[in-house]
Amino acid sequence: MSDTFSPLRPKVILGIAAHPDDLDVGAGGTLAYFASLGAEIHYFILTDGGKGSDDPAMTSAQLVEIRRAEQKAGLEIVGGKSITFLDYPDGELEVTMELKRQIVKAIRAIKPDVVITMDPTVTYVASIGIINHPDHRAAGQATLDAVFPLARDRLTFPELLTEGYEPHKTETVLLVNFNESNFAVDITSTLETKLTALKAHPSQFGDLEGSTWVQDMARGQGQKAGYEFAEGFVRIDIR
Ligand SMILES: [Zn+2]
Repeated sequence: MSDTFSPLRPKVILGIAAHPDDLDVGAGGTLAYFASLGAEIHYFILTDGGKGSDDPAMTSAQLVEIRRAEQKAGLEIVGGKSITFLDYPDGELEVTMELKRQIVKAIRAIKPDVVITMDPTVTYVASIGIINHPDHRAAGQATLDAVFPLARDRLTFPELLTEGYEPHKTETVLLVNFNESNFAVDITSTLETKLTALKAHPSQFGDLEGSTWVQDMARGQGQKAGYEFAEGFVRIDIR
C-alpha cells in the first residue's frame, strides 16, 4: 500500500483541522512519530470547538476554554511546536476566500513540506452509517485550495506578499480518511503516545480507559499495510 511512494521524512508539518482533537484522532501517531524523528509540528485549528458536548450543564464559552486547553495538552504530548486557533464558530465553518487567505498566510509563514488535513471528498460513508462533519469537509477543502494554487501563486493575495509572506510550494498533502487510504504511517512505536494525547481530551473521549477503539482502528489500518498499528491517509505528492 505504501510502497508506491518514496519514504516520507518531513522537516516541517502543518496540521490544519476543524476542531481541537481532529489532528490527534486522525494523525496523532503519525505526528508523534515524525516529531520523534525531528520534524517540527504546527497545529492550525479553525473552529473553537464550542458545540462538542451533550452535557446539559456545559456552556459553549466554558467548552471553548476546556477544548483549547485540551488541544494544547495534546499538542505537547505529540511533541508539537506551535498552535494557532482561528476560533470560527463550531458547526458553521464555510469555505470562504477569507478562510483560504488565513490558511495561505499560515502556509507561507510556516513553510511546511507536509500539510495534514481532512479529506473533503468524504461526505458520508453509508456502509458504516457516518455523515462526515461539515466543518471537516470545509477545513479540508479550504486547505487544499490554499495549498494549491493560492499559497504558491505570487499574484494571489498581494497584501500578504507586501507583508513579507512569500509564495510557498507544499510537497506533500496527507488527507485524513478513515475509510479509504493509499498510504500508511507505521505508528507501532507511537500508539501509546497517541492514546495519551487522546486522554488529554476528556471532554471528547471520556471513557478511553475501558475502550479499545483507538487500538482497533490502528490495527485495522496496520493490517492493510503490513504494520502492527498504522494511520492511513490519502497521500498526494504535488508535482
Ligand atoms: Zn472534528
